[in-house]
Amino acid sequence: MLPVVVIHGGAGTIPKERAGQATSGVCSAARAGYAVLQGGGSSMDAVVEAVTQMENNPSFNAGCGSVLNIKGDVEMDAIVMDGKTLGSGAVSAVRNIANPIQLARLVMDKTSHAFLTAEGASLFARSMCVPEVPQESLITEYARMRWEKNLAPGANPVESQMGKMGTVGAVAVDREGNLACATSTGGILNKMEGRVGDTPCIGCGGYADNNMGAVSTTGHGEAIMKVTLARLILFHMEQGQSAEVASDLGLACMKSRAGGLGGVVTVDPRGHWAARFSSQQMAWAAAQKDTLHYGVNAGEHFTQSIDEPR
Ligand code: ASP
Repeated sequence: MLPVVVIHGGAGTIPKERAGQATSGVCSAARAGYAVLQGGGSSMDAVVEAVTQMENNPSFNAGCGSVLNIKGDVEMDAIVMDGKTLGSGAVSAVRNIANPIQLARLVMDKTSHAFLTAEGASLFARSMCVPEVPQESLITEYARMRWEKNLAPGANPVESQMGKMGTVGAVAVDREGNLACATSTGGILNKMEGRVGDTPCIGCGGYADNNMGAVSTTGHGEAIMKVTLARLILFHMEQGQSAEVASDLGLACMKSRAGGLGGVVTVDPRGHWAARFSSQQMAWAAAQKDTLHYGVNAGEHFTQSIDEPR
């Protein structure tokens, strides 16, 4: 069953014309993560590689392609967590860098802290020689169009927030049985300046523990935080539920108690995995035993050989 990597490309509603890009994005990220694992890399290396790829892919709401805040700026959040040590690293409201997930990993690896925010995170990035990029290089035409549309009189901001999400995340178990998770996002459209969502918050946007499992979440951040979704799912797994049932229980609680929709990828230490969502859609992909699994709509599960081009 090992190694395995499972990816999501955000819970929400994916417009028809973008479903193909989202699917090929998650599939190639799953391939990239799996290649790291097959080459003997750690689960942490695999999830960071997969998420980096999706941050660089303008189809997703992370890195280049991030949604814009109310002022039209990009502010990004990310987290990584290592299931062996319970070490984690997170950044929030960071600007002008291409790969927040790599900065989150540097926070874990190079500081004695778990979470840096805003200007402090930028200072740290500079000290680590992370290249600064102009904000324009992170903004796609599509993101700008959606932002402009949302500011138009009569726009329904809630509907458009839930409309097209594209946060990215990954969980993996390597050959040694170590688990890791990584999640990265531009947040929600038209968020207030300085708004921090669930993604970088430990137990909300992700959690990994070698003894229980690993989860990466996506969906309405304020609702995810109310139920600490990642940790809630692992609580159910600790109580003996499968990755799939625990994920469904967590998402159901988020819906009934917090009125929020979302999606998750979950894996247990033996490599049983689940990709579940209460939103209309979520692009997901998993790589295990040289097979690629993927889907976008509820109930969809396609498989093909990992080497076959999609
Ligand atoms: N959870 C993210 C946030 O609220 C958004 C998403 O997953 O699409 O910032």
